[in-house]
Amino acid sequence: MQLLKDRIRRDGIVKEGNVLKVDSFLNHQMDIALLNEIGREFRRRFADKDITKILTIEASGIGIACITAQYFNVPVVFAKKAQSINIDGEVYSSKIESFTHKKVYDVIVSRRFLNSEDRVLIIDDFLANGCALLGLLEIVESAGAKTEGIGIVIEKGFQDGGEKIRRQGIALESLAIVDAMDAEKGTVVFRGE
Ligand code: 5GP
Repeated sequence: MQLLKDRIRRDGIVKEGNVLKVDSFLNHQMDIALLNEIGREFRRRFADKDITKILTIEASGIGIACITAQYFNVPVVFAKKAQSINIDGEVYSSKIESFTHKKVYDVIVSRRFLNSEDRVLIIDDFLANGCALLGLLEIVESAGAKTEGIGIVIEKGFQDGGEKIRRQGIALESLAIVDAMDAEKGTVVFRGE
């Protein structure tokens, strides 16, 4: 998606440790005009799927998922990061290791909001090592629901998350894939360039 790549080049900041900061337009301050185009593009890429629910994870996936959901006319469910899980049978849960915070979280989704009838589109801002997505996939599986696809805004193609997901045969669409970045020069190389 050219608009997104241009924006990453213009306003993204490459940090040490393979972190790309996009907080001026995507995951802290949010450019809603850009998010609208992102939502429209996800709809175009998953036009043939009959989606009943969009699933994401708090916090930074929520805004993107909500705008995208307007193009699909379906509800958004976000997995909540829980300090401790109360295993009382009311929630699906999974463990996720955070790439940015190097912490392990339990994430939960209430059983009331995901069931075996659901055809789910998973949306998130970044794909790095794939832990967040694997956790969300586990939750969809626990619900007996079907993952119809995964939409990612920025995939870091030099980390192995994308490969792990595609190997499972899941339809994964990333709107920008970064194959290399250099913190010193501040440069980003996109796949296909
Ligand atoms: P994964 O679980 O795939 O390793 O990482 C995905 C999560 O880590 C995303 O939801 C995102 O919040 C965060 N993340 C991973 N890499 C980056 C990055 O380079 N920049 C930012 N801003 N977040 C990242």
